[in-house]
Amino acid sequence: MNFVTRPGRVGIMGGTFDPIHYGHLVTAEAARWEFALEKVIFVPSGRPPHKKDYPVTDAEYRYQMTLLATASNPYFEVSRCEIDREGFSYTVETVAEFRREYGPEVQLYFITGADAILEILTWKDVDRLLRECQFIAATRPGFHLNRLEESRPQLPVEGRHRIHLIEVPALAISSTDIRWRVKNKKPIKYLLPEAVEEYIRSRGLYRPRLDGVYEKG
Ligand code: NAP
Repeated sequence: MNFVTRPGRVGIMGGTFDPIHYGHLVTAEAARWEFALEKVIFVPSGRPPHKKDYPVTDAEYRYQMTLLATASNPYFEVSRCEIDREGFSYTVETVAEFRREYGPEVQLYFITGADAILEILTWKDVDRLLRECQFIAATRPGFHLNRLEESRPQLPVEGRHRIHLIEVPALAISSTDIRWRVKNKKPIKYLLPEAVEEYIRSRGLYRPRLDGVYEKG
């Protein structure tokens, strides 16, 4: 763990980002710093396989918000790979795309929420995934660490030590809460970048409709 950026270590920040907020940005920067990543590529999910039955905001809106939120950090990039790929967004396919692009030598780190990683045994081709990349599971201090540790022995032996934990106090902010706040006309200022707040307002995202589905603007 050090501050020196090492070429050959790339972070892939996976999430629905519905919407992206400061918790995600602080997580990406903390992971970059702690794991000496040369950059972090944000990958908004296209069609999340585990959210078939939930309303998820149109991918283009989530992509645009991610671009706006990350624009000021020269170490951050945004990829459309899951949005442009046909079918469900399986992480194993995303990681394979980055492996093809960056070559066999690069070390890939998939960064996401610890809650999501708790379900990793249900993900497509988990053995291959754990061979291809390491994981950085982000959580609020003290939250769910025990559950993640308890599930570690169930992972393939060679993958058990390829999941790292980071504690990020800013993850008290959550996308679910922000959507609820917009729907209930509560303030979201200081929870996400102003440009994203303005984008949500101008497109009318997360406002309730009579049928209970979120408006897309
Ligand atoms: P989720 O289930 O909506 O989120 C679980 C928790 O993790 C929430 O508290 C969420 O907070 C947080 N979280 C999500 N992404 C985060 C990030 N990048 N940094 C910090 N916290 C984060 O998770 P999801 O967004 O749908 O999925 C996360 C990633 O796992 C995505 O890249 C997804 O494609 C991948 N995944 C893959 C498979 C598969 O390949 N079969 C299955 C499931 C998930 P917020 O709601 O505030 O973001």
